[in-house]
Formats: sequence, structure tokens, C-alpha cells
Amino acid sequence: MNIQDTIERIIDPKQIDAARQIINRCNKFVVCTHMSPDGDAVGSSLAIASYLRKKGKEARVVYSDTPGDNLNFIPGLREEMVFDSQSQTSVKNTRDEAMQAIREADCFVITDLNTPSRMGDMNKEVMANPAPKILIDHHLDPATDSFDVIISHPEASAACELIYTFILQMGDDALIDKQIATQIYCGMMTDTGQFIFSSSRPQVYLIVARLLQEGFDKEKLHRDLALEPERRTRLKGYVLLQKMQLVTQYKAAYFSLNKTELKRFNHQKGDSEGFVNMPLDIYSIQVSAFFREEKNFVKVSLRSKGDFPVNLLAQKFYNGGGHKNAAGGEFLGTLQQAEQLFVKALPLFAKYLEK
Ligand code: 5GP
Ligand code: MN
Repeated sequence: MNIQDTIERIIDPKQIDAARQIINRCNKFVVCTHMSPDGDAVGSSLAIASYLRKKGKEARVVYSDTPGDNLNFIPGLREEMVFDSQSQTSVKNTRDEAMQAIREADCFVITDLNTPSRMGDMNKEVMANPAPKILIDHHLDPATDSFDVIISHPEASAACELIYTFILQMGDDALIDKQIATQIYCGMMTDTGQFIFSSSRPQVYLIVARLLQEGFDKEKLHRDLALEPERRTRLKGYVLLQKMQLVTQYKAAYFSLNKTELKRFNHQKGDSEGFVNMPLDIYSIQVSAFFREEKNFVKVSLRSKGDFPVNLLAQKFYNGGGHKNAAGGEFLGTLQQAEQLFVKALPLFAKYLEK
């Protein structure tokens, strides 16, 4: 028996049929994902675009802003387009081309987000084009009015897991090649923290087993993911030694980085990705928050262990959302206010803490 025959087809066949009809009649695809794209956003968007090209379609990915250089190892990334070319860009193409692609698209495939606003400013352009929109995502509560086909599975480890399942259920497993397999694997590997989180369904490993048949170098991908510029290593040390605050009573930790500090360490996009997880390595700590000063807002990242629902915290206090153990938002105010709000909110969430 082939491995793919053992993989559960979790997507509703009605959604597959609806997507198939749209894909069959469309030719100019634009693939979009969430702003500040992470490994799953990049992997899922590149993989579905590669797949569509293999089906003979024109397909481009348009990122709302430039993916961090730490994701450069994902194959195909630097061929794509960026909408907000004001952010430093090593991706080839710029806003005008991105705009034109969005206007000319006759179909959008949107991955790893549940609501158009997560695309940032680009969402206005995308939503202004009446072309059909197919969503493939694993966040809770998809905005049902905004998409024509909704493939939404919060139980999935990553949007990339759903991209594979989608291709399988389209009857196109044979189109998976080494590049597509790598792109999908990268998203699954990054969104699960290298298969620690949200990856206990056996299905995840059946899909990994299938992808590995394409012969990519799995160990190298994990090594590439761990590599970082010296400035990030040093910033990490600074955060842990000088910035991290503990609120022991509520098993919480938080830290912030202001513009001056970011400049001092020549912080580039992606440099502080994952820092918010570090305090969770401390035995007693169950919730962690990271506040980073941006141009017009404070970027908030929240993580937790166990039952502490950081998505509720993000929703209630930081105009955001996310998953139970990983959430984020944007706060309009000062860094200090954002931090104070966190400390004040902790008692309201004390009931979720494990003894
Ligand atoms: P991160 O902390 O890595 O930026 O985000 C972790 C998760 O929180 C993301 O996967 C996403 O689900 C959610 N998230 C982050 N920022 C926002 C935001 O501004 N709004 C919403 N709704 N969710 C966010
Ligand atoms: Mn994801």
C-alpha cells in the first residue's frame, strides 16, 4: 500500500469539488498569506503556487511585507513579490508589480489566516477584486463572508499540512515533487516548533513520511532553521539577562524591546522571532509576553503552556487573536502601557494556571 492511501482525507469533499471547479476555470492565480509571514505562511503559499504551476496555471505569491531573512532557506521564496516594498526587500519584485498581479488575478488562494485583515493593507486591494477566493487555513473562526471556498481545520498542525491534504484530495499526489515537499515540510516543521506543538495526530507523521519520499535533506532544513546572525544571538542574551521580568505569583514572564534597543542590535525583520518562547523554559513559567515597539504600534506576542488561553488575552487587550498557546496582536499605545496591561490582566486569567 502507498503511504498516501493511509492518510486521512479530512477536507470535506464538497469543498474540494468547489475548489476544483474554480481552479479548472481560472488561469491567473495570486496566492496571499498573513503579514509578517512565518515559515508556515511562506511554505503554504509557495507550495500551493508551485502546485498550481504544475497544473499549468499562472501563479504568483504576493506577500504583504517581506519575509524575514531567516526564512531564506525555503526554496523559491526570493522569486516572489512583496506588496509593501517600503520594508527592506530582498524579494525581487515590488509594489507596482504586486498591485498589477492582484488586479489581474482571476482567482486568489489565501493561506494561514482566518480573516482578510491579517493581510494588512494589501487586503483592501485583494478584496476589491471580485475574483473567487479559496481559503486554506488552520486558525479558529474563519471569516465566512470573505471567501468563496473555506477549507478550515484548526486541528491541523500547520496550514502546510492542509496544503498537502488538499493536493492529495484533488487527486494530485503525483504532482508533489522535491521542491513542493520541501516547502510543505518547512511550514509543518516551523509551525510546530520542530514537531513539539500541535503535532500529536499520527496523520502529521504519515504526511511527513510521504513528503520524505521526495528525497529532500530533512536534517539540513532543521540546521538551516537554527542558524542565525550574530546580532540575534547577542540580542537573545540581552533579553534574557537584562530585559526579562518575572511575575512569579502568576507564573508569568514578559519583556519588551524599544526602538533604541532594536537599533542598537541592528534588529532586522525576523531577528526576534521565537524569543517569546524562551521564558517558557523556566520550570514555573506558564505564560510569556513580548512587546516590540514598531513605527505606529506595539507588536505583541504571547505564548503559554497548558490551558492558559493567550488568544483570549490577545483578543481582549491587544486587538489580536490566535491559538490557545500562541497568539498576538497590535497595541496602540506605549510599550509601558502594553506591559502594564499584561501585568494587570494576569489575575483575570489566574484560574487557567496549573498548580
Ligand atoms: P506571533 O507571536 O508569532 O506573531 O503570532 C502567533 C500567532 O498569533 C499567529 O500565528 C496568529 O495566529 C496570531 N496573531 C499574531 N498577531 C496577530 C494579530 O495582530 N491579530 C490576530 N488576530 N492574530 C495574531
Ligand atoms: Mn500556521
